[in-house]
Amino acid sequence: MSFESEFAAELAWPEYYRRVKNGDVPILIPFGSMEQHGHHMPMNVDVLLPTEFARRVAQEVGGLVAPPFTYGYKSHQKSGGGNFFPGTTSLDGASLISSLKDVIKEFARHGNRKLCIVNGHFENSWFISEAIDLALRELKWGGITEIKIVVLSYWDFVDQEAIAKLYPNGFLGWDIEHGGVLETSLMLRLYPDLVSLQDAVEHPPASFPPYDVYPPHEDWTPSCGTLSSPKEASAEKGDILLDVCTRGIVGALEHEFGAKVRTKLAQFA
Ligand code: ZN
Ligand code: MN
Repeated sequence: MSFESEFAAELAWPEYYRRVKNGDVPILIPFGSMEQHGHHMPMNVDVLLPTEFARRVAQEVGGLVAPPFTYGYKSHQKSGGGNFFPGTTSLDGASLISSLKDVIKEFARHGNRKLCIVNGHFENSWFISEAIDLALRELKWGGITEIKIVVLSYWDFVDQEAIAKLYPNGFLGWDIEHGGVLETSLMLRLYPDLVSLQDAVEHPPASFPPYDVYPPHEDWTPSCGTLSSPKEASAEKGDILLDVCTRGIVGALEHEFGAKVRTKLAQFA
């Protein structure tokens, strides 16, 4: 137990309650998945990355990080390789919506009024939106209307300047970044012991026809599971990504929540 932790669940309840009861402290909820990420990375990449962004942002804005969601919506072939890979372990949309809706209402019950969902897995996006919509509707029925929820995916804060540095040979789009330069660079910077670049499989970027088919043609996905090669990933690129995304998310939360950047001292005074 630590009084200085940014992680809400590491606090004893009186300290947690002291911080959140007025609704001023933003609470950040990382949302990930258990999903294959090729031969060179573990299956919790989509959990580790948004959790670390949430932690860094929480430090800047005086927020708290909720326990992450470690399962997400089913992997889609064109953005995550597909849900047929062994290891990839997913929720039905209804389960995701129901779980997140419950958690939002619980945090609202404690007094939290500024929430941020930090998404790390593209396929979660619309289910997160639906959970928020249903939670806000039910909270409104219960008389709670002054709540605001920001939802974001960290990669959306990568700007053109960063893209030019990250992809000098041209950028192919976030959808086929699965297990590629973006995630691998961040993992190399943050969790190098969990990456074995020598096991990465080099392959041309995945290309798909302009339709989906169910059950999927598994051979549309490169057999290693990544959708673009991670060979150009580096810890230095990870630094560029950490900087641009953290700054962008902090700016968004300050804009939406009016949160003043707090020093450690003020936060615990
Ligand atoms: Zn991922
Ligand atoms: Mn994913």
